[in-house]
Amino acid sequence: MSVPLVDLQSQYESIKPEIDTAIQRVIDNSAFIMGSEVAAFEQAFAEYCGVKHAIGVSSGTGALFLALLGYGIGPGDEVITTPFTFFATGEAISQVGARPAFVDIDPVTYNIDPAKIEAAITPYTKAIMPVHLYGQPADMDAINEIASTHKLVVIEDAAQAHGSLYKGKRVGSLADSACFSYYPSKNLGCYGDGGAVVTDDDHLAERVRLLRDHGRTSKYEHSELGYGHRLDGIQGAILATKLPHLDGWNEGRRQRADRYADLLADTAVVTPKHLPETTPVYHCYVIRTPNRDAVLASLQKQGIGAGVHYPIPLHLQPAYRFLELEPGSFPISEQAAKEVITLPIYAEMTDEQQDEVVAALKAALANGA
Ligand SMILES: *Cc1c(COP(=O)(O)O)cnc(C)c1O
Repeated sequence: MSVPLVDLQSQYESIKPEIDTAIQRVIDNSAFIMGSEVAAFEQAFAEYCGVKHAIGVSSGTGALFLALLGYGIGPGDEVITTPFTFFATGEAISQVGARPAFVDIDPVTYNIDPAKIEAAITPYTKAIMPVHLYGQPADMDAINEIASTHKLVVIEDAAQAHGSLYKGKRVGSLADSACFSYYPSKNLGCYGDGGAVVTDDDHLAERVRLLRDHGRTSKYEHSELGYGHRLDGIQGAILATKLPHLDGWNEGRRQRADRYADLLADTAVVTPKHLPETTPVYHCYVIRTPNRDAVLASLQKQGIGAGVHYPIPLHLQPAYRFLELEPGSFPISEQAAKEVITLPIYAEMTDEQQDEVVAALKAALANGA
Protein backbone atom coordinates (compact mmCIF):
# COMPACT_ATOMS: atom_id res chain seq x y z
CA MET A 1 0.00 0.00 0.00
CA SER A 2 1.33 3.41 -0.83
CA VAL A 3 0.51 6.59 1.07
CA PRO A 4 0.19 9.87 -0.90
CA LEU A 5 1.47 13.25 0.33
CA VAL A 6 -2.09 14.58 0.19
CA ASP A 7 -5.35 12.84 -0.70
CA LEU A 8 -7.82 15.22 -2.33
CA GLN A 9 -10.02 12.37 -3.51
CA SER A 10 -10.95 11.12 -0.04
CA GLN A 11 -11.81 14.66 1.07
CA TYR A 12 -14.09 15.03 -1.95
CA GLU A 13 -15.77 11.69 -1.23
CA SER A 14 -16.56 12.90 2.30
CA ILE A 15 -18.55 15.93 1.03
CA LYS A 16 -19.48 14.86 -2.52
CA PRO A 17 -23.23 15.65 -2.44
CA GLU A 18 -22.63 19.19 -1.10
CA ILE A 19 -19.89 19.93 -3.63
CA ASP A 20 -21.81 18.50 -6.59
CA THR A 21 -24.88 20.56 -5.68
CA ALA A 22 -22.80 23.74 -5.40
CA ILE A 23 -21.11 23.22 -8.77
CA GLN A 24 -24.42 22.41 -10.45
CA ARG A 25 -25.95 25.59 -9.00
CA VAL A 26 -23.25 27.72 -10.65
CA ILE A 27 -23.79 25.98 -13.98
CA ASP A 28 -27.56 26.45 -13.73
CA ASN A 29 -27.09 30.16 -13.01
CA SER A 30 -24.26 30.68 -15.52
CA ALA A 31 -22.50 32.85 -12.92
CA PHE A 32 -19.07 31.71 -14.01
CA ILE A 33 -16.86 34.70 -13.17
CA MET A 34 -17.28 36.47 -9.80
CA GLY A 35 -21.01 36.91 -9.14
CA SER A 36 -23.09 36.05 -6.09
CA GLU A 37 -21.28 32.79 -5.20
CA VAL A 38 -17.96 34.61 -4.98
CA ALA A 39 -19.51 37.50 -3.03
CA ALA A 40 -21.07 35.09 -0.53
CA PHE A 41 -17.77 33.29 -0.03
CA GLU A 42 -15.88 36.58 0.36
CA GLN A 43 -18.23 37.60 3.15
CA ALA A 44 -18.00 34.22 4.89
CA PHE A 45 -14.19 34.14 4.66
CA ALA A 46 -13.83 37.72 5.97
CA GLU A 47 -16.01 36.78 8.95
CA TYR A 48 -14.01 33.60 9.48
CA CYS A 49 -10.74 35.57 9.59
CA GLY A 50 -12.28 38.30 11.73
CA VAL A 51 -11.71 41.16 9.26
CA LYS A 52 -13.92 43.50 7.24
CA HIS A 53 -12.95 42.58 3.70
CA ALA A 54 -11.99 39.48 1.74
CA ILE A 55 -11.39 40.03 -1.98
CA GLY A 56 -11.35 36.84 -4.04
CA VAL A 57 -8.67 36.72 -6.72
CA SER A 58 -7.25 34.29 -9.24
CA SER A 59 -4.48 32.74 -7.07
CA GLY A 60 -2.34 33.20 -4.00
CA THR A 61 0.38 34.68 -6.17
CA GLY A 62 -2.18 37.11 -7.61
CA ALA A 63 -3.22 38.04 -4.06
CA LEU A 64 0.36 38.88 -3.05
CA PHE A 65 0.90 40.84 -6.26
CA LEU A 66 -2.32 42.85 -5.93
CA ALA A 67 -1.79 43.59 -2.22
CA LEU A 68 1.68 44.98 -2.94
CA LEU A 69 0.34 47.03 -5.85
CA GLY A 70 -2.57 48.17 -3.70
CA TYR A 71 -0.12 49.76 -1.27
CA GLY A 72 1.67 51.44 -4.16
CA ILE A 73 4.82 49.36 -3.67
CA GLY A 74 6.95 49.20 -6.81
CA PRO A 75 10.31 50.01 -8.43
CA GLY A 76 12.89 51.35 -5.98
CA ASP A 77 11.15 49.82 -2.97
CA GLU A 78 12.26 46.90 -0.84
CA VAL A 79 10.12 44.30 0.89
CA ILE A 80 11.54 42.18 3.71
CA THR A 81 10.68 38.49 3.58
CA THR A 82 12.07 35.01 4.20
CA PRO A 83 14.16 33.09 1.65
CA PHE A 84 12.72 29.81 2.98
CA THR A 85 9.29 29.77 1.34
CA PHE A 86 7.50 28.89 -1.88
CA PHE A 87 8.95 30.84 -4.82
CA ALA A 88 5.80 32.96 -5.29
CA THR A 89 6.47 35.00 -2.14
CA GLY A 90 9.60 36.53 -3.65
CA GLU A 91 8.21 36.45 -7.17
CA ALA A 92 5.25 38.71 -6.30
CA ILE A 93 7.63 41.27 -4.77
CA SER A 94 9.76 41.20 -7.92
CA GLN A 95 6.72 41.33 -10.23
CA VAL A 96 5.65 44.72 -8.86
CA GLY A 97 9.20 45.94 -9.54
CA ALA A 98 10.36 45.94 -5.90
CA ARG A 99 13.32 44.07 -4.47
CA PRO A 100 12.97 41.20 -2.00
CA ALA A 101 15.23 41.80 1.02
CA PHE A 102 15.70 38.39 2.59
CA VAL A 103 16.07 37.80 6.32
CA ASP A 104 17.09 34.40 7.70
CA ILE A 105 14.72 32.14 9.64
CA ASP A 106 14.43 30.85 13.17
CA PRO A 107 15.86 27.28 13.15
CA VAL A 108 13.01 25.86 15.26
CA THR A 109 9.90 27.38 13.66
CA TYR A 110 11.37 27.90 10.14
CA ASN A 111 9.66 31.32 10.12
CA ILE A 112 11.39 34.68 9.61
CA ASP A 113 13.56 35.58 12.63
CA PRO A 114 12.34 38.95 13.96
CA ALA A 115 15.68 39.53 15.71
CA LYS A 116 17.32 39.83 12.27
CA ILE A 117 14.77 42.11 10.61
CA GLU A 118 16.01 45.48 11.81
CA ALA A 119 19.44 44.99 10.24
CA ALA A 120 17.75 44.56 6.83
CA ILE A 121 15.77 47.81 6.98
CA THR A 122 16.99 50.56 4.65
CA PRO A 123 15.53 53.92 3.57
CA TYR A 124 13.87 51.98 0.70
CA THR A 125 12.06 49.42 2.86
CA LYS A 126 8.28 49.69 2.53
CA ALA A 127 6.90 46.43 3.88
CA ILE A 128 7.52 43.18 5.73
CA MET A 129 5.98 40.01 4.31
CA PRO A 130 6.20 37.20 6.88
CA VAL A 131 5.16 33.71 5.76
CA HIS A 132 3.30 31.43 8.18
CA LEU A 133 5.31 28.46 6.94
CA TYR A 134 3.81 24.96 7.12
CA GLY A 135 0.76 26.46 8.86
CA GLN A 136 2.49 27.92 11.92
CA PRO A 137 1.99 31.67 12.43
CA ALA A 138 5.14 33.79 12.39
CA ASP A 139 6.10 35.75 15.53
CA MET A 140 3.66 38.55 14.69
CA ASP A 141 3.91 40.73 17.82
CA ALA A 142 7.64 41.16 17.33
CA ILE A 143 7.20 41.78 13.58
CA ASN A 144 4.39 44.31 14.04
CA GLU A 145 6.39 46.19 16.67
CA ILE A 146 9.36 46.61 14.32
CA ALA A 147 6.98 47.65 11.53
CA SER A 148 5.28 50.29 13.62
CA THR A 149 8.63 51.73 14.76
CA HIS A 150 9.77 52.05 11.15
CA LYS A 151 6.36 52.83 9.64
CA LEU A 152 6.28 49.75 7.45
CA VAL A 153 3.29 47.85 6.13
CA VAL A 154 2.96 44.18 7.17
CA ILE A 155 1.41 41.72 4.67
CA GLU A 156 0.95 38.15 5.90
CA ASP A 157 1.63 35.41 3.37
CA ALA A 158 -1.01 33.10 4.86
CA ALA A 159 -1.13 30.73 1.88
CA GLN A 160 -0.30 27.74 4.10
CA ALA A 161 -2.14 28.74 7.25
CA HIS A 162 -5.92 29.06 6.79
CA GLY A 163 -7.45 28.89 10.26
CA SER A 164 -4.30 28.85 12.37
CA LEU A 165 -4.19 31.01 15.50
CA TYR A 166 -1.68 33.35 17.09
CA LYS A 167 -2.56 34.29 20.68
CA GLY A 168 -6.13 33.22 19.95
CA LYS A 169 -6.46 35.42 16.84
CA ARG A 170 -6.80 34.00 13.35
CA VAL A 171 -4.16 34.50 10.70
CA GLY A 172 -5.52 37.02 8.25
CA SER A 173 -6.24 39.42 11.11
CA LEU A 174 -2.69 39.68 12.46
CA ALA A 175 -1.32 42.49 10.27
CA ASP A 176 -2.34 45.23 7.82
CA SER A 177 -3.47 42.64 5.30
CA ALA A 178 -3.03 38.98 4.46
CA CYS A 179 -2.92 36.88 1.32
CA PHE A 180 -4.35 33.38 0.98
CA SER A 181 -4.05 30.73 -1.71
CA TYR A 182 -6.82 28.25 -2.45
CA TYR A 183 -4.59 26.02 -4.58
CA PRO A 184 -6.20 22.56 -4.40
CA SER A 185 -3.76 21.06 -1.88
CA LYS A 186 -3.84 24.01 0.57
CA ASN A 187 -5.75 23.54 3.85
CA LEU A 188 -8.69 25.31 2.20
CA GLY A 189 -8.42 24.51 -1.49
CA CYS A 190 -10.65 24.93 -4.51
CA TYR A 191 -10.75 22.87 -7.71
CA GLY A 192 -8.48 25.10 -9.73
CA ASP A 193 -6.57 28.27 -8.94
CA GLY A 194 -7.87 30.79 -6.41
CA GLY A 195 -6.78 33.21 -3.71
CA ALA A 196 -7.83 36.18 -1.61
CA VAL A 197 -6.57 39.37 -0.03
CA VAL A 198 -8.12 40.02 3.39
CA THR A 199 -7.91 43.30 5.30
CA ASP A 200 -9.65 45.76 7.59
CA ASP A 201 -8.30 48.60 5.44
CA ASP A 202 -11.13 50.07 3.30
CA HIS A 203 -8.69 51.83 0.97
CA LEU A 204 -6.61 48.71 0.26
CA ALA A 205 -9.78 46.67 -0.29
CA GLU A 206 -11.00 49.18 -2.85
CA ARG A 207 -7.63 49.21 -4.64
CA VAL A 208 -7.50 45.40 -4.86
CA ARG A 209 -11.12 45.19 -6.05
CA LEU A 210 -10.36 47.65 -8.83
CA LEU A 211 -7.02 46.13 -9.86
CA ARG A 212 -8.29 42.53 -9.98
CA ASP A 213 -10.90 43.46 -12.61
CA HIS A 214 -9.19 45.64 -15.24
CA GLY A 215 -9.47 48.87 -13.24
CA ARG A 216 -13.18 48.74 -13.95
CA THR A 217 -15.45 51.23 -12.18
CA SER A 218 -18.58 50.20 -14.11
CA LYS A 219 -19.35 47.76 -16.90
CA TYR A 220 -17.68 49.79 -19.66
CA GLU A 221 -15.57 52.31 -17.77
CA HIS A 222 -11.99 51.75 -16.64
CA SER A 223 -10.40 54.35 -14.40
CA GLU A 224 -6.90 52.86 -14.69
CA LEU A 225 -4.97 49.93 -16.11
CA GLY A 226 -5.65 46.86 -14.01
CA TYR A 227 -5.36 43.10 -14.37
CA GLY A 228 -7.43 40.00 -15.05
CA HIS A 229 -7.17 38.44 -11.58
CA ARG A 230 -10.79 37.51 -10.81
CA LEU A 231 -12.07 34.43 -8.96
CA ASP A 232 -14.41 31.96 -10.74
CA GLY A 233 -17.97 31.33 -9.58
CA ILE A 234 -17.38 27.58 -9.40
CA GLN A 235 -14.36 28.12 -7.15
CA GLY A 236 -16.34 30.52 -4.95
CA ALA A 237 -19.16 28.00 -4.58
CA ILE A 238 -16.73 25.17 -3.75
CA LEU A 239 -14.88 27.32 -1.21
CA ALA A 240 -18.10 28.41 0.50
CA THR A 241 -19.10 24.75 0.73
CA LYS A 242 -15.75 23.71 2.18
CA LEU A 243 -15.24 26.59 4.64
CA PRO A 244 -17.54 25.18 7.39
CA HIS A 245 -15.43 21.98 7.32
CA LEU A 246 -12.07 23.75 7.64
CA ASP A 247 -11.77 23.76 11.44
CA GLY A 248 -12.59 20.06 11.60
CA TRP A 249 -10.03 19.24 8.92
CA ASN A 250 -7.40 21.34 10.70
CA GLU A 251 -8.18 19.53 13.95
CA GLY A 252 -7.73 16.22 12.11
CA ARG A 253 -4.32 17.39 10.90
CA ARG A 254 -3.32 18.40 14.44
CA GLN A 255 -4.30 14.96 15.74
CA ARG A 256 -2.19 13.33 13.03
CA ALA A 257 0.71 15.64 13.92
CA ASP A 258 0.46 14.74 17.62
CA ARG A 259 0.37 11.05 16.75
CA TYR A 260 3.45 11.42 14.50
CA ALA A 261 5.27 13.13 17.37
CA ASP A 262 4.46 10.18 19.68
CA LEU A 263 5.38 7.54 17.12
CA LEU A 264 8.65 9.27 16.20
CA ALA A 265 9.72 10.16 19.74
CA ASP A 266 12.20 7.26 19.88
CA THR A 267 13.93 8.19 16.60
CA ALA A 268 16.70 10.66 15.89
CA VAL A 269 14.58 12.82 13.55
CA VAL A 270 13.63 16.31 14.69
CA THR A 271 9.85 16.68 14.81
CA PRO A 272 8.03 20.05 14.45
CA LYS A 273 7.89 22.37 17.45
CA HIS A 274 5.27 25.06 17.68
CA LEU A 275 5.41 28.16 19.85
CA PRO A 276 3.01 27.95 22.82
CA GLU A 277 1.17 31.08 21.60
CA THR A 278 0.32 29.45 18.25
CA THR A 279 -2.22 26.86 17.17
CA PRO A 280 -0.72 25.54 13.92
CA VAL A 281 -2.68 23.85 11.12
CA TYR A 282 0.08 21.58 9.75
CA HIS A 283 -0.24 22.37 6.07
CA CYS A 284 2.99 20.37 5.97
CA TYR A 285 4.35 17.98 8.61
CA VAL A 286 8.08 18.58 8.37
CA ILE A 287 10.78 16.54 10.05
CA ARG A 288 14.52 17.07 9.91
CA THR A 289 17.36 14.63 9.46
CA PRO A 290 20.98 15.23 8.44
CA ASN A 291 20.94 12.39 5.91
CA ARG A 292 17.92 13.79 4.11
CA ASP A 293 18.45 12.73 0.50
CA ALA A 294 18.98 9.05 1.38
CA VAL A 295 15.99 8.98 3.75
CA LEU A 296 13.80 10.68 1.15
CA ALA A 297 14.86 8.26 -1.59
CA SER A 298 14.14 5.29 0.68
CA LEU A 299 10.69 6.63 1.63
CA GLN A 300 9.81 7.18 -2.01
CA LYS A 301 11.04 3.71 -2.92
CA GLN A 302 8.74 2.29 -0.23
CA GLY A 303 5.73 4.07 -1.77
CA ILE A 304 5.54 6.97 0.69
CA GLY A 305 4.67 10.29 -0.96
CA ALA A 306 7.24 12.31 0.98
CA GLY A 307 8.37 15.68 -0.35
CA VAL A 308 10.71 18.57 0.39
CA HIS A 309 9.47 22.08 1.17
CA TYR A 310 11.79 23.58 0.05
CA PRO A 311 15.10 22.25 -1.30
CA ILE A 312 16.38 25.57 -2.73
CA PRO A 313 16.08 28.82 -0.75
CA LEU A 314 14.93 31.73 -2.89
CA HIS A 315 18.25 33.59 -2.88
CA LEU A 316 19.93 30.55 -4.46
CA GLN A 317 17.30 30.05 -7.18
CA PRO A 318 18.65 30.55 -10.70
CA ALA A 319 15.97 33.21 -11.27
CA TYR A 320 17.42 35.28 -8.41
CA ARG A 321 21.04 35.13 -9.53
CA PHE A 322 20.74 38.84 -10.31
CA LEU A 323 20.50 39.58 -6.58
CA GLU A 324 24.10 38.31 -6.31
CA LEU A 325 23.56 36.53 -3.00
CA GLU A 326 26.17 33.83 -2.41
CA PRO A 327 25.69 30.49 -0.66
CA GLY A 328 26.24 31.21 3.03
CA SER A 329 24.17 34.43 2.94
CA PHE A 330 21.34 32.84 4.97
CA PRO A 331 22.91 29.80 6.67
CA ILE A 332 19.90 28.71 8.76
CA SER A 333 17.65 28.58 5.70
CA GLU A 334 20.33 26.82 3.67
CA GLN A 335 20.83 24.18 6.36
CA ALA A 336 17.06 23.61 6.67
CA ALA A 337 16.78 23.28 2.89
CA LYS A 338 19.27 20.39 3.08
CA GLU A 339 17.60 18.58 5.98
CA VAL A 340 13.80 18.88 5.83
CA ILE A 341 11.38 16.17 4.69
CA THR A 342 7.61 16.60 4.46
CA LEU A 343 5.64 13.51 5.50
CA PRO A 344 2.10 12.80 4.28
CA ILE A 345 -0.59 14.55 6.34
CA TYR A 346 -4.31 15.11 5.77
CA ALA A 347 -7.42 14.88 7.91
CA GLU A 348 -8.67 11.68 6.28
CA MET A 349 -5.42 9.78 6.87
CA THR A 350 -6.02 6.49 8.71
CA ASP A 351 -3.99 5.06 11.58
CA GLU A 352 -2.89 2.26 9.24
CA GLN A 353 -1.60 4.72 6.65
CA GLN A 354 0.24 6.70 9.29
CA ASP A 355 1.74 3.55 10.81
CA GLU A 356 2.98 2.62 7.36
CA VAL A 357 4.71 6.00 6.92
CA VAL A 358 6.36 5.64 10.33
CA ALA A 359 7.46 2.05 9.65
CA ALA A 360 8.96 3.11 6.31
CA LEU A 361 10.78 6.00 7.96
CA LYS A 362 12.14 3.78 10.72
CA ALA A 363 13.31 1.23 8.13
CA ALA A 364 15.05 3.99 6.20
CA LEU A 365 16.79 5.23 9.33
CA ALA A 366 17.77 1.68 10.42
CA ASN A 367 19.34 1.03 7.02
CA GLY A 368 21.76 3.84 7.73
CA ALA A 369 19.92 6.21 5.43
C1 LIG B 1 0.93 28.26 -2.39
C2 LIG B 1 1.72 29.44 -1.94
C3 LIG B 1 1.69 30.67 -2.62
C4 LIG B 1 1.07 30.85 -3.98
O1 LIG B 1 -0.22 30.45 -4.11
P1 LIG B 1 -0.82 30.05 -5.56
O2 LIG B 1 -2.28 30.01 -5.31
O3 LIG B 1 -0.24 28.74 -5.92
O4 LIG B 1 -0.45 31.14 -6.51
C5 LIG B 1 2.36 31.74 -2.06
N1 LIG B 1 3.04 31.62 -0.91
C6 LIG B 1 3.11 30.46 -0.24
C7 LIG B 1 3.88 30.40 1.04
C8 LIG B 1 2.48 29.32 -0.74
O5 LIG B 1 2.58 28.17 -0.08
